[in-house]
Amino acid sequence: MTDVFSPEKRSAVMSRIRSKDTKPELIVRRTLHRMGYRYRLHHPGLPGRPDIVLTRHRLIIQVKGCFWHGHRCLKGRTPKQNSGYWIPKIQGNIARDRRNERRLRGAGWHVCTVWECAIRTHQSRALGAVLRVLGTSRLIVRDATAAQGTERTQL
Ligand SMILES: [Zn+2]
Repeated sequence: MTDVFSPEKRSAVMSRIRSKDTKPELIVRRTLHRMGYRYRLHHPGLPGRPDIVLTRHRLIIQVKGCFWHGHRCLKGRTPKQNSGYWIPKIQGNIARDRRNERRLRGAGWHVCTVWECAIRTHQSRALGAVLRVLGTSRLIVRDATAAQGTERTQL
């Protein structure tokens, strides 16, 4: 597939893309909320201030913009124009993501990444994957609760 934008246009378009409260993130949030899940946003006490934090599930959902986080998809391609600026910037973001995710996993969090392109092109499949992760973590929580002999209901 060829890029729909010329390099100049792509650079201009990409530089305007914001990294927070992007539409795909809102779609994920709304879906979770509708299903009764409650979460914290951009938790300041956790490495990288993760997007969506489901404390009870020890689950973090990162909705990543393909461009800013260097996804290997069409939207994640670094513009050729001004590549001396973009490449180190995006590589830095990837390295920071890895560092943060390692620290989060080390602290016992499940980290689930949802790519913006997946939400845009295969929305139900991408959301299904998130909910499957939640199902898994719910099982883990339930098992842990059962082991402690309590009857708390975990949502
Ligand atoms: Zn992507």
